[in-house]
Amino acid sequence: MNEHDPESTSEATPLVVAMDGPSGTGKSSVSRRLATRLGARYLDTGAMYRVATLSVLRAGVDLSDAEAIAAAVADLPLSIGTDPSHEVIALDGADVSEEIRGDAVTKAVSAVSAVAEVRTLLVATQRTIAARAGRIVVEGRDIGTVVLTDADAKIYLTASAEARAFRRNQQNIDEGRGDDYAAVLADVQRRDTLDSTRAVSPLRSAEDAILVDTSDLTKDQVIDELYRIVGQQVSVRRGGGAR
Ligand code: C5P
Repeated sequence: MNEHDPESTSEATPLVVAMDGPSGTGKSSVSRRLATRLGARYLDTGAMYRVATLSVLRAGVDLSDAEAIAAAVADLPLSIGTDPSHEVIALDGADVSEEIRGDAVTKAVSAVSAVAEVRTLLVATQRTIAARAGRIVVEGRDIGTVVLTDADAKIYLTASAEARAFRRNQQNIDEGRGDDYAAVLADVQRRDTLDSTRAVSPLRSAEDAILVDTSDLTKDQVIDELYRIVGQQVSVRRGGGAR
């Protein structure tokens, strides 16, 4: 048995992996696949902010009015699944998995996720879900720095803005949402700036996170690297020091 192999601990053993980083690094798909490989659950916290944003948009709230945004999400009827191979995201009992990836939500999500009350509410839910799951990969922007600071492994995925825009644009093409690299790049850069400069929980790497640049790696290479890092971090944290 390899001491750096996360499977050396049984699938019943609690294991919390925090996966942070900006959009377009391939974070969602590699987090899902990593969770499957680890026999863990998976939580997409970005989807939760997107559902909150959809709810705010439906309520017709002015996006510059933080108080009104907070009021609109106070009793958010959100349900989210944690099966890495099957996405379940519902608002008021109705599936919104498509709608939350649309343009309207993507444009408004940074404004909604910058509101402190929204974060407090969703962070509490995220902690509850992670505690219940026990063995889980949690993906977002502030997981290692705020939500789960005691995570067994922390990873910060990064890639150049150009590489991230290229991937997102390719995803849009594949999913029939059009081909506009310049607009996607502008949106990636706009969201990076908003997410990393906001007052509450700005996007940044935790000091104890391992940085992985995915610009020149295939998804398979990223998964292998993450799997290795998780094994190493778990063994260092649980074993009490680097070897
Ligand atoms: O990951 P995704 O692109 O779906 O996230 C959408 C938005 O949700 C991000 O641009 C960010 O504004 C917000 N977010 C956040 N904190 C998280 C996850 C997402 O603020 N933990």
